[in-house]
Amino acid sequence: MHKYVIMGPQGSGKGTQAGLLARGFDLVHISVGDIFRWHVQNRTKLGTRVQRYMNEGRLVPDEMVSDVVKWRLEIHDWRHGFVLDGFPRNKAQTEFFLENYDIDAVIAIELAEEAAIARIQSRRLCSSCGLDYNLIQLRPHVPSVCDNCGGRLVTRADDTPEAVRTRLAEYREKTRPILDLLREKELIVTVDGTPPPDVVQAEIRRRLGLGAAAAVAGEASPVAELTR
Ligand code: AMP
Repeated sequence: MHKYVIMGPQGSGKGTQAGLLARGFDLVHISVGDIFRWHVQNRTKLGTRVQRYMNEGRLVPDEMVSDVVKWRLEIHDWRHGFVLDGFPRNKAQTEFFLENYDIDAVIAIELAEEAAIARIQSRRLCSSCGLDYNLIQLRPHVPSVCDNCGGRLVTRADDTPEAVRTRLAEYREKTRPILDLLREKELIVTVDGTPPPDVVQAEIRRRLGLGAAAAVAGEASPVAELTR
């Protein structure tokens, strides 16, 4: 069983890295941001409550976040483990997390703010299936069209310059400091998010001691995943 938490500022590629790790080792990728986006898209009661926070780049209040995480982890739909992406993100969430869950390691991706901003500006998302693209490193085959489902690629509603600045400040002030709290109990693996995604993925696997042999059959390499 492999249970990981992945952290990193917006634009650091944490979603991409979590997805690659999950696909490579048959883990469930649990993205708290994706769950909230689903609620917003489907206009649920929770979606209406979280939309404003998300569009402004602010953290959603803790009770709503821990309810969603609790609900999601109780489904227990993994055979080999999970990668939890986007939780915990502040001190209160970390305390709740440490009291309730056991994990193997926290993967912390580091990226300078200027590099994060440049990447976020080039980020696109499929409006239909939610797949992430990056116009620099992960371009679709046909401009503005999703390779996976043919859906239209859009900019995330919270990728406006103002919201990006707020999200980076939230990370710097609230999320990054929790690494010290987590370090007391968990193994922290810090990796540089600057290199291309396949290099970052290889480094994460190396640092977690996940040999290529453990990867599920059918995955040629992280590079193959990235060239889709
Ligand atoms: P992400 O897709 O991880 O960038 O998350 C998108 C947005 O969802 C964030 O900017 C927050 O508004 C909200 N969000 C996701 N995870 C959390 C969390 N653990 N705590 C508070 N808000 C969150």
